[in-house]
Amino acid sequence: MFLAFFQLNRINHLREAQSAKKIGYMQDRQQHRKLSRLRQELLEVLERLRKTLEVVLARSPLVKGSVYQIARRCGTPNCRCTRGQLHRNFVLTWSEQGRHRMRSLPPPRVVEIRQKSKEYARFRRARIEVSILYNRILALLDQIQELRREAPGDE
Ligand SMILES: [Zn+2]
Repeated sequence: MFLAFFQLNRINHLREAQSAKKIGYMQDRQQHRKLSRLRQELLEVLERLRKTLEVVLARSPLVKGSVYQIARRCGTPNCRCTRGQLHRNFVLTWSEQGRHRMRSLPPPRVVEIRQKSKEYARFRRARIEVSILYNRILALLDQIQELRREAPGDE
């Protein structure tokens, strides 16, 4: 009884192996094309990663925060601001340990600080892009691995 079951099981196993081989041949070309596509995409993602890292590898200084122009009253009685001519100046705002911070900018430095804060924003966007590309690369590696992997014992 046990032996019969064992033999039947073995025959089934052989049949499965044979049909798997036929299917295997049919799937070979398809898998080859898929593998080519994945390899191509991997190379494209690596190129995008390289370009994204150019932003990170630059040497220009970064300033965290945003530059705004604000208009306000100073509180001095009879000042022109009480008649609607508000004091306008530029500030840099940023958050630090969850707190909102602000400092006023001397007019000669506004252009420079604004440029550095834009550069900071670019750096942060690049960082997000890197993490997206990194995940994509890992997903591609997994797919390539699956396509290239042979079942253990296959000849
Ligand atoms: Zn005033």
